[in-house]
Amino acid sequence: FDHGCGGLWVCLARSVSFLCMKRLTIVIPAFNEERNLVAVFEAVQKVMSELSYAWDVMFVDDGSRDRSVAVMKELAAKEPGRVGYIELSRNFGKEVATTAGLLHAKGDAVILMDADLQHPPEIIKQFAKKWEEGADIVIGLRTRNQGEGIVRRLGSKVYYQLMRRMSETELQPGETDFRLIDRDVVEAFKRFTEHNRLTRALLNWLGFKKVYI
Ligand code: UDP
Ligand code: MG
Repeated sequence: FDHGCGGLWVCLARSVSFLCMKRLTIVIPAFNEERNLVAVFEAVQKVMSELSYAWDVMFVDDGSRDRSVAVMKELAAKEPGRVGYIELSRNFGKEVATTAGLLHAKGDAVILMDADLQHPPEIIKQFAKKWEEGADIVIGLRTRNQGEGIVRRLGSKVYYQLMRRMSETELQPGETDFRLIDRDVVEAFKRFTEHNRLTRALLNWLGFKKVYI
């Protein structure tokens, strides 16, 4: 003990504080992302090292046809306890992949994030802060996508207007899947049985205290 962490009491205190730390699980669905997985893990790792949470990453391979699963396996072997992965039997689409991740995530809160680094990991700090302040869901809003053409922008605008008219679910324009959700929300979400699903709309439908970033 003396050599390890400077005395029994220090060691005990550290162990207790580690056990008391809240856990964040970052769920990352991936379809043919072999070139991005290491980069996204390292970016998350950097941000998480600046916060005081226990944390882990849960990759979900959505039937990739490239080496995504192999890269996940390598990362999981290199970072035991830190990186987990789920391998789906075929491509089901992002909504199902995200759901699979949510069903298996262990964290006190879960962060949903894309694998292609279009969701800046740095924002996790703001998500966590809002969560600590009492938000159950912290939602990333996209103001502008770099390189996005006018057609896509218009399409997106029409989509959100239609969704708002046709469903009881409020979706803000620019609302993304990049979000933090508290364990209570995850547990409520697990009770949905819909197969054809828009994860972020279902999450919003549940209610709870929402904050946008
Ligand atoms: N994705 C997935 N299954 C799919 C398509 C995409 O799991 O069938 C993942 C993808 O790897 C990425 C996220 O979902 O992590 C968002 O996908 P993409 O970047 O293609 O969507 P966009 O940027 O257009 O929203
Ligand atoms: Mg993308």
